[in-house]
Amino acid sequence: MRLKLFIISLFVVSCFVAFSYGDIIVNRSLFIKAILLYWLFSTLYSHLTIVVKKGNVNMDYGISYGLSFGLVAGPLGLFVFEFVQRFIVYFDRKYSKTADPDEFLHTFYNIGAFALNNTIAFFIFQLLYPSFQHFPFGFWLLIVLLVITVSLLSDIYLITIFTITKNISTFKEAIDFIKSRSVLDMGKTAFSNGLLYLLIMEEQWEMVIALFLLNYLVSRSFMLKSQTIQHKLERDKFEHMAYTDFLTDAYNRTYMDKIMQELNHTGECIGVLVTDIDSFKRVNDTYNHAVGDHVIQQYAATLKSHLQDKDCLVRSGGEEFTIFLRHRSFQQCVELVEKIRSDVDSNPVHTEYKSEAVAIHYTASFGLYYYKTAGETEIKRAYVYADDLLLQSKELGKNRVTVKNGTVDLPLSVRFK
Ligand code: GH3
Ligand code: MG
Ligand code: MG
Repeated sequence: MRLKLFIISLFVVSCFVAFSYGDIIVNRSLFIKAILLYWLFSTLYSHLTIVVKKGNVNMDYGISYGLSFGLVAGPLGLFVFEFVQRFIVYFDRKYSKTADPDEFLHTFYNIGAFALNNTIAFFIFQLLYPSFQHFPFGFWLLIVLLVITVSLLSDIYLITIFTITKNISTFKEAIDFIKSRSVLDMGKTAFSNGLLYLLIMEEQWEMVIALFLLNYLVSRSFMLKSQTIQHKLERDKFEHMAYTDFLTDAYNRTYMDKIMQELNHTGECIGVLVTDIDSFKRVNDTYNHAVGDHVIQQYAATLKSHLQDKDCLVRSGGEEFTIFLRHRSFQQCVELVEKIRSDVDSNPVHTEYKSEAVAIHYTASFGLYYYKTAGETEIKRAYVYADDLLLQSKELGKNRVTVKNGTVDLPLSVRFK
């Protein structure tokens, strides 16, 4: 209720000031040309505004051309411009279903605030321009001062609104809000409005249109660029989430399916390694599930520490991992796996159980199948072979490596311990 009262008062005051000042100050034909151009470009521009949510209030950040229009047309002309312009935006949003529930009230706020502030700027300009025009850059300095004044006034209204809606409750929050205004945006508003004013007063219409277009194109290209970057960041984040196991940060089965399809066609020699922690149930039973998780994490970290960027680590089951070893000879793969096995065997996991430090010794078994892709053997088959080799390691007493080189005709797999 208090919010409505504040907004309606703002509107009524701006309306009163506009009508009591009387007529439009420039000649009618100039006024009509200017207002048509301003409506056209402000409407185009309204699609580029960035909406920022503050509490339950949406705020639009876009460039406002009201200042130059006010300087050209005076308080009444400005009021007519703002009134029609804000209602064009209102109906546009209603029609495209992007309107806020309170859009009607916001429209009155925008008319009232922008008409009143730029009217104040108009009076200051009338008062100070005769003195400012005598020194270099006096006009521009005055325009910058006007933009600062208008911005501060807007901030005061908005802070009043946020205090009423309880989105701002302390003095510090109010100051932070004022500080959040971008100096660059204010600079853009100042120079655009200053130039527009000068060009309209000289009736340089082609230049006015060029300036509007330039502003529109620059803003649009920046907006598209930042959207593209934002979309790419989000896509990358979702892709990472979709392909990653969150406990170990290794890849998940979905990614494994994808990379297997890709590797199947490369024609390179790869080592498919399947590994599983031995007697892991015992860890869960002796301690608890959280300690078990910690061992799995540590195990994944150990595996990763032995791999290179091109290799690919997948958590293919609870305590089972699959690794695609790339750009290595069979011999290099075998040596690497044996190194991993002995690393696991000799480095217990240090963790906490019932508030006491514990060192958990564990081992793992491995099955390695080495072959050339894109030949007779499908990668899915290679994975089954590697899994069978892992099973042999388990059956032979665990904590060992069983390997087979599919690139040569050896009937037997070889075991290491
Ligand atoms: P083996 O040496 O034959 O592999 O014996 P094992 O006990 O390791 O094998 P088994 O597959 O019978 O048991 C695996 C256990 O791992 C069963 C399951 O409760 C546990 N497990 C699976 N996923 C997780 C997990 O994410 N966290 C924890 N803490 N335990 C898990
Ligand atoms: Mg196991
Ligand atoms: Mg298992």
